Amino acid sequence: MFDGPKPLVSVKDLKMHFPIYAGFFRRRVGEVKAVDGVSFDIVEGETLGLVGESGCGKSTCGRAVLRLYDITSGSISIDDREIGATPQSDLRTMRPTMQMVFQDPQASLNPRMTVEAIIKEPLDEHTALTEAEKREKVGELMDAVGLNRKFAKRYPHAFSGGQRQRIGIARALALNPKFIVCDEPIAALDVSIQAQVVNLLEDLQEKFGLTYLFISHDLSMVRHIATRVAVMYLGKVVELAPREALYRDPLHPYTKALLSAVPEPDPSLATAKERIILQGDVPSPSNPPNGCNFCTRCPSVMDICTKVEPDYREVQPGRYTACHLYNDTAG
Ligand code: SF4
Repeated sequence: MFDGPKPLVSVKDLKMHFPIYAGFFRRRVGEVKAVDGVSFDIVEGETLGLVGESGCGKSTCGRAVLRLYDITSGSISIDDREIGATPQSDLRTMRPTMQMVFQDPQASLNPRMTVEAIIKEPLDEHTALTEAEKREKVGELMDAVGLNRKFAKRYPHAFSGGQRQRIGIARALALNPKFIVCDEPIAALDVSIQAQVVNLLEDLQEKFGLTYLFISHDLSMVRHIATRVAVMYLGKVVELAPREALYRDPLHPYTKALLSAVPEPDPSLATAKERIILQGDVPSPSNPPNGCNFCTRCPSVMDICTKVEPDYREVQPGRYTACHLYNDTAG
């Protein structure tokens, strides 16, 4: 998909459907198509932003890529290992390579463990380091994320939200991962400290050569951190493009609407910007529309859109979208 260096992460036609059970006998009556045929690559050292409104499937997608779920179908290759169908018990050896930073540091840290114990836990599970070596490593990790080593014996409640997220990041870094899924890592933080955490993630990326899948509904923040951006709607990626191209000239009608709602920092451009208000609600992922899944809300909808699902394909070099408007240019 991506012409250039070999991808570290390659996801093809990933589906994550959750069954719906109902009635006295708990029969399966349908499924929620949370992720429905998503494909993307992430090159070593880059940040792929994954954006979309809440409920579009982006967090489920991130968790599925790390195999926190048993996926419905598709292939996931990370660091040359296909893990789409690997049994959970065999994934343990891969866990050090791939890690996750969660949205809510409060919920993801055990309140009964000290910071040292929290950061040390992956080292206990996956390494043969001595206790002294592990303590030293914890100290180094605390330095790397900007936490004072003196606080290693304190509990998570003694820290602010931003500091707790730093603890979560230190823990994610403990086993020298190559790939980190950052799932809305700043959404639960005060606006005043969001930028600090994003800057920290950027610094760590440079220092340790990390590759990120950065999941967020905040398009301004994604513009700041991402190399390329994928836009999700109702379980599918509808557009993927290099950052600047996407923000300057979005192709898919949904991307255009999303970006029209982002405040423009340049006042001379702000007045020229027209806000696109989408009509209607996002359909249920258990009952998506026929044809294009955006056809019920698209300002450019055509006859074909309600009948034929548009292919997701490269319509300009490095730019992918799924929309009938670009069928002629696809070549
Ligand atoms: Fe809109 Fe049709 Fe394109 Fe879907 S395929 S985004 S409905 S124009």
